[in-house]
Amino acid sequence: SDELRLEGVTKGYNHAKPNEVTVLQGVDLRVGAGEVVALVAPSGAGKSTLLHIAGLLDTPDAGRVWLGETDMTALSDKRRTAARRREVGFIYQFHHLLPEFTAEENIVLPQLANGVSRAAARDRARELLDTVGVAPRASHRPAALSGGEQQRVAYCRALANRPRLLLADEPTGNLDPGSADRVFAALMDLVRGTGLAALIATHNLELAGRMDRIVRLEAGRVVA
Ligand code: ADP
Ligand code: ADP
Repeated sequence: SDELRLEGVTKGYNHAKPNEVTVLQGVDLRVGAGEVVALVAPSGAGKSTLLHIAGLLDTPDAGRVWLGETDMTALSDKRRTAARRREVGFIYQFHHLLPEFTAEENIVLPQLANGVSRAAARDRARELLDTVGVAPRASHRPAALSGGEQQRVAYCRALANRPRLLLADEPTGNLDPGSADRVFAALMDLVRGTGLAALIATHNLELAGRMDRIVRLEAGRVVA
């Protein structure tokens, strides 16, 4: 089954450059349950726009965005925002962890906001940290962790509320190559353990080659 399906997604910006009236021009894209898809795009190709639309942060001018059986473009803004918080996890190049909280607390807090009990949230945080090998550092604040550890904590936070879709934008982009390799393996361990759908934008073709499938965004369209 498809967890994410984009059909004919078109998007432009009012003040886009004259020759770039439309950024996305009828994008069709599917990511199935348990599938990890690499999104490779030259700079300016519309990668961020596509991720924002897939992640329900923005809406297309035309076309449809399905999460599972639900057409997200047919929902009110309020329902779409609620769906985003429930169903979508985000990972960025920089971790954006809360500096005044420990690694574990950074993973517990979004679960509390989602109505999970503190005990259950803590168990889940420890299980996730264990999967990525950061359990021994659970009580450290982000500043006391290495870049790779910080990023692995951010992965755990993104998956804390068991989203059905994970969107990542250069998830290892700020790490040195050796570290990126290990941290990417940790991300794959997390994703493979859940069966969620993942769309991971990267310029790193070696990492892209380790995913299930590569799609390219060129001239506003997705090509296999
Ligand atoms: P990428 O992430 O692939 O670099 P973006 O999706 O950020 O590409 O942007 C694609 C094109 O859309 C660029 O030409 C960019 O200038 C334009 N663009 C992106 N966001 C906006 C915006 N909010 N307003 C106007 N133009 C935008
Ligand atoms: P909260 O539940 O704390 O209010 P939001 O609903 O605003 O958080 O955001 C949920 C997720 O969407 C977060 O992971 C956040 O990083 C991401 N997000 C929110 N706004 C943006 C944005 N403008 N660009 C990129 N990501 C965003």
